[in-house]
Amino acid sequence: MNLQTLESVLAKDTFTDEDLLAFLSLTDTECCARLWREAYDRTTRVHGNALWFRGLIEISNYCIYDCRYCGIRKGNHQAQRYTLTPDEIVEAARYAVRAGYGSVALQAGERTDEKFIAFVEDVLRRIHRMSIEEGIPEGCGVTLSFGEQTEETYERWAQAAGNRKALRYLLRIETSNLELFNYLHSGKGGAQKTWPARLEALATLRKLGYQVGTGVMIGIPGQSLEDLVRDIRTFESLDADMLGMGPYLVSHGGDMVADGMMQKDALLTLTRNMLSATRLALPTVNMAAATALETLVTGGRTLGVLSGCNVIMPNVTPQRTRASYQLYDNKQGTESEPDSNVMLEQELEAVTGRVIGRHRFGSSLHFRNRSGLLAH
Ligand code: SAM
Repeated sequence: MNLQTLESVLAKDTFTDEDLLAFLSLTDTECCARLWREAYDRTTRVHGNALWFRGLIEISNYCIYDCRYCGIRKGNHQAQRYTLTPDEIVEAARYAVRAGYGSVALQAGERTDEKFIAFVEDVLRRIHRMSIEEGIPEGCGVTLSFGEQTEETYERWAQAAGNRKALRYLLRIETSNLELFNYLHSGKGGAQKTWPARLEALATLRKLGYQVGTGVMIGIPGQSLEDLVRDIRTFESLDADMLGMGPYLVSHGGDMVADGMMQKDALLTLTRNMLSATRLALPTVNMAAATALETLVTGGRTLGVLSGCNVIMPNVTPQRTRASYQLYDNKQGTESEPDSNVMLEQELEAVTGRVIGRHRFGSSLHFRNRSGLLAH
């Protein structure tokens, strides 16, 4: 597609599969820059100039599954396992609340035992109480990312989190190519995660009132551009409120080293094209620029914002465990000091022209439209 044709497609409000495929296929520097700029401008038109921050706390890297791509999978015996103490988690959340982020995001490897469920429940109660004490009358926003759980567990956590207006869950579909999904999620004992179970978990979260986030990895070996178009259509049919997507990066703790990974420059371009194509197809969702993008290239999250993202999840996990949450090789931020978040804030504002939306929950317009919630 040349620049002239691209201009005529970008003038539209809705896009066909062929249009999305053409966006994903772009490699010409000028055409790519034009696509990314359009996505950025539409984000501004729909969402305004605010960039929402969630303080990310990686609470534990214990996991009962063996997802092939992931460096903290159960079968990686090199991983140093840890679980933060409740005090460490609450203090990390306090840091985020005091920085004005308005929301925290808690993530971990997957566990489904009662001890873990009750641990998360207790921590959520404490974060809610702490954030009220810190001056947020309804409690801070909370995003959870603890994988597939039962309806009862999701409901227990929703109640403990306390603020139903800003209650969110991130559960990526990873890919809508079912053959690839099954390959990624089959360990030694056969299939560990199934596509129907993933869809059911997302539906349950939505039923319980969570703002539902999903996403995929971009550039997985064996994934085609047509798969990525189907991913976008799947986000649409799931009626997702939020999306988190980043490049697939090889992990030596994973089980896909032999599958390789895309060349860095091509992966960066494809990731930005995918973020922009998704923004054009789904204008009202909140879309996060992933840490994996920052690992691929320094300043990657800034490039994500310049391609249509409006959410950043700076890592506020205590320093002592950062290096152990190694999802992929050379994960960014494992060495950085808390002050680096201040630098990130300044860099983002200076380079992207966005303003960090402090002391707000920053819920997506998509969720506010469907729930009738006005404030965000
Ligand atoms: N266990 C929960 C789950 O699977 O939803 C939350 C933690 S999981 C480590 C968070 C995300 O990390 C996954 O959804 C996956 O997309 C991403 N991830 C894992 N390994 C990755 C890799 N090698 N490259 C890029 N992203 C990766």
